[in-house]
Amino acid sequence: MDKISVVVPCYNEEEAIPIFYKALRKEWKKIPCQMELIFVNDGSNDKSLEKMRELSQKEKGVRYLSFSRNFGKEAALLAGLEYASGDYIAVMDVDLQDPPSYLPVMYQSIKEEGIDCVGLKTRTHDGYSFFRRIFTNFYYKLIEKMSSTQMVPGARDFRLMTKQMKDAVLSMKEYNRYSKGLFSFVGFDTKWIDYDAPERKMGSSKWSFWKLFRYAIEAIVAFSTTPLVLSSFIGILFCFVAFLMILFIIIKTLLWGDPVGGWPSLACIIIFVSGVQLFFFGVIGEYLSKTYLETKKRPIYIIKETEKDIK
Ligand code: UDP
Ligand code: MG
Repeated sequence: MDKISVVVPCYNEEEAIPIFYKALRKEWKKIPCQMELIFVNDGSNDKSLEKMRELSQKEKGVRYLSFSRNFGKEAALLAGLEYASGDYIAVMDVDLQDPPSYLPVMYQSIKEEGIDCVGLKTRTHDGYSFFRRIFTNFYYKLIEKMSSTQMVPGARDFRLMTKQMKDAVLSMKEYNRYSKGLFSFVGFDTKWIDYDAPERKMGSSKWSFWKLFRYAIEAIVAFSTTPLVLSSFIGILFCFVAFLMILFIIIKTLLWGDPVGGWPSLACIIIFVSGVQLFFFGVIGEYLSKTYLETKKRPIYIIKETEKDIK
């Protein structure tokens, strides 16, 4: 019999955990597999950990990992994947935006169609603010141009994959983990199921606009070096423009003499060019800082407690 591991990162989700468990439990019964549920407590400061302890003591097949502090969802996913022992591994959010009712369908398609992964992607972003929707659309267009790794617009982290694919994802040991990119980078056959993501049932989203923005930048830095190429390109372009301007000034001076003037335009040019330079310093800095973090080889997460500690 196959075993399925379901990995669920949780950060301050005391309300959601029991409801999620009930919903998942209902679907378990429809799948002819052994099930294992792995909650990852990402340093919550509410009662999430208590809820996990309770469930793992009461219910068979419920395990958990608890971090020493908040390390972020990517770290929680990594820990969960490393801990999972199933032949198939599902990753999903606890807020029921990834409905467990899709699990049986996903398992069936993976079994029958001989593919490696089934993922869900949303058609709508109704829950998003106007600003976030525009930003999201723009971002996917941008990263499609910049990166050779394909990022599927609207793709959620909700997916069921084979152990082989999980192992491939785990073989990437990088510190800056952008899961959507990592899942795409490893290849394998992935089937996408379209659905309309419901709104969060309880609790609140953990993403502020600023956090999302940082995340978007991280994804670009992790999966594309186009910004660096762009900086060289703009450098060359500016040199060319400067060359034309020099020619123009020489010819103008030879023909009409050299009346002094034009310092405001000069000031503008200097400010503009230094702005562009600073911007690309920043770009290079982003890459350098990521390299710096990678070379330190710090642990991506630190586990404080697991279900084994209370049994
Ligand atoms: N999450 C986490 N660590 C964090 C932030 C979020 O483990 O630092 C979990 C959260 O508990 C939830 C999932 O990641 O299960 C998705 O978070 P959220 O629903 O806030 O994101 P959204 O659906 O708004 O993209
Ligand atoms: Mg959510």
